Formats: sequence, C-alpha cells, structure tokens
Amino acid sequence: MQTLESFDFENKRALIRVDFNVPLNEKLEVTDDTRIIAALPTINYILDNGGSVVLISHLGRPKNGPEHKFSLSHIGQTLSDAVGTDVEFVDDCIGKEAFAASSALSPGEVLLLENLRFYKEETEGDDGFARQLAQHGDVYINDAFGTAHRAHASTTIIAQFMADKMFGKLMMEEVKSGNKVLESAQHPYTAIIGGAKVSSKISVITNILDKIDNLIIGGGMAYTFIKATGGQIGSSLVEEDHLDTARNILSEAKSKGVRVVLPEDSVVASDFDNDAEKKIVSSDQIEDGWMGLDVGPLATTAYEDVIAKSKTILWNGPVGVFEMSSFAEGTKALGQMIASSPGYSLVGGGDSVAAVKKFGLEKSMSYVSTGGGALLELLEGKTLPGIAAIQE
Ligand code: AMP
Repeated sequence: MQTLESFDFENKRALIRVDFNVPLNEKLEVTDDTRIIAALPTINYILDNGGSVVLISHLGRPKNGPEHKFSLSHIGQTLSDAVGTDVEFVDDCIGKEAFAASSALSPGEVLLLENLRFYKEETEGDDGFARQLAQHGDVYINDAFGTAHRAHASTTIIAQFMADKMFGKLMMEEVKSGNKVLESAQHPYTAIIGGAKVSSKISVITNILDKIDNLIIGGGMAYTFIKATGGQIGSSLVEEDHLDTARNILSEAKSKGVRVVLPEDSVVASDFDNDAEKKIVSSDQIEDGWMGLDVGPLATTAYEDVIAKSKTILWNGPVGVFEMSSFAEGTKALGQMIASSPGYSLVGGGDSVAAVKKFGLEKSMSYVSTGGGALLELLEGKTLPGIAAIQE
C-alpha cells in the first residue's frame, strides 16, 4: 500500500477528500473547527513537499442541488487562517471553472471546491461523477474518516480511477486507534457504552464483548438493562422491544467472564428539564413519574475502581444528559477519571466527544476520534468502504 511518505509530491496535485462537515451557526460561521484542524497535517505535509492541494468535501445534507446555507464558501476564511495561506474557492466541484482552477495550481497552493453533495451523483456513488472528480489530481488521498463508512463517489468509487492513492495522516491515526482497541488492546480493558439507545449500540457491544474485561453501561440505555433484570425504572427511557436483547447481552457477558457495571444509583428528575425537582435513588427503585437522567454518586464511585485499574478504555456515549448542568456530574466525573488514567483511552462517537470538549478534557485523552458513525461501524467489526477502496 502507498503512503504519504512513500510518494514524491514534487509538482504533483494532491486531491484530498476531507471531512469539512463542520457545524455552522445562524450567521453561517464555523462554530467548531476541529475537523478543519484535523486535516492540517496532511495538507501541510504535501505543501511542505512541493505539491499543491485540491480539497473536496461535503457539508450537511443538501437535498436538491446547490443551497447557499450548505456552501463550503462559509469555511473558506477559517481554512485560510488555519493553513496560513489564501485558499482559492470555486463554487462548483466539477465543470469548466473548477477544472481550470485545479489545473492552474502551482506548488504550495490550495484550492477548495464546492460541496460535493450539490450533485446527487455523490451519494449515489456514480461512476461518471467519480471519474470527473479524479481529473482534479495526480494522486488521491482519503483523509475523511467521518465519511469512510459511506460508499460515495468521492470516498470510495473514485479510488478505482486513480493509480496513486493513499490514506491521509488523520485517516491513518483513526484506523490505528480503532485497531488498537479492537486487535491489540492491553488488559484490563474497559468499554463504557452510554447514550440514549441500546438499539444503536447492540452491534458494537456484541463485537467487543470477546475482547473486553469490563463493560460499563450508562446513560438512558442503562434503564432498559435494569428493567430487563426486574428493576423498577419509573418514567426513565426504555426500549421495550429490546428487553430481550439486554438480557442476551448480560448472559453473554457472564459466559465470557465480562464484568458488567450498571449504575447502582441514579439522579432522577420529575421532568426532562434542567430545573426539575431531582433526587438520588437506587436505579432499580425509581417511582412512576420520575426519570433517571444521570448516574448517582455510588455509580461514580464504582467507576473509579474499574477505570483506575484499566490499561485500555473505550468510551462511547455519555452516562447522563450532560447537556443540562443538573445532570452533567456523572459524565463529567467519568470523563475526568478517564483523562487522568495512565491507560490508553479512545473516545469516539458524537456525543461523548461533545462531552469531552465541554469539560475541557480533550488533550488528556489518548485519542479523540473525529468519526461518529464511521467509528461505530469500525467498532462493530465492519469493513469501511472508504478504507477498503484504498487497500484494494
Ligand atoms: P447517543 O447518540 O445514543 O450516544 O445518545 C446521546 C444522548 O443520550 C445525549 O444527548 C444524552 O443527553 C442522552 N442521554 C444520556 N443519558 C440519558 C438519560 N438517562 N436519559 C435520556 N437521555 C440520555
């Protein structure tokens, strides 16, 4: 397989599929530049080695062609500031003007093309569209881990039209971190799976059960497990149609010798509201009209012991409604424990990353993934099409 380091970029145009699907506010300003910053190592490497760069990405989910609010022009300034050079922008990703701009690039220059999803051919994985995109570069680099689980034209199909193709530095890091917790984890190994729904995490849990020693289940999904074992959960979140799933996971864990940690106590509230009346009760004795919105102090204490002894920690999903300050304590305490653990920690999957950022713990984690769905699919043991396309 080719790598950035094995390729000579001198006078070459590198077409990089990045994931600039960043959040914008109402004024269409970038509110979180994490994904832009994460693409810099690859961009800078190519510029430093005599090449030029053409960036392609999607932004949001435009339905019917071009839509101003989804234009990548909104990130142009943030990108220019991050790269430290003026990035040229063309308001199309194929077509005369776009091809004129990419073929006129000199070494050291960077071009950003318009949102790929303004063409429905992108998500359809259209061959012809991919073939056109391929003309923008002498070499194709996939650095878009966030969309690696999609077989789209620019993430997967395009690879067959490029003789030279490779992963970018971000993609390499993401895959390396994923493999670390899937294939070469040191023990004791603890997985913390939280969030709202059991249904979205079943495949991940099933795939990692063979590899882990401890499974901490928190967040809204914990109450389906507690109900499944006979607990009284009041008005807490529950997926009735997954009570059997929960029982099966628990018995499978038992047969594999995995210790499952459910929250012994919970912070319950009278309403799904930051100002609602709240109290701490045993998680299996929640009265009707009360709902568990955070793990309680006994649960947090139990985590301390497990986390302190772990050499590998995988964290996906908050253990409470951390967006509301009244129910953020459990997730914050857990995050702090992971951050101060000397073990290897991988945090990923949307909301736990948001929690880590909210509590300022990002730099203390071993790795914070930029992929939500992509990381989940990797952890489920699936082959991601964007990764397979380069490896083939
Ligand atoms: P997920 O996308 O499945 O990882 O779920 C993340 C969401 O779960 C966050 O927005 C949390 O607010 C929410 N969540 C965590 N704990 C609870 C809970 N006990 N009850 C309801 N929602 C929760």
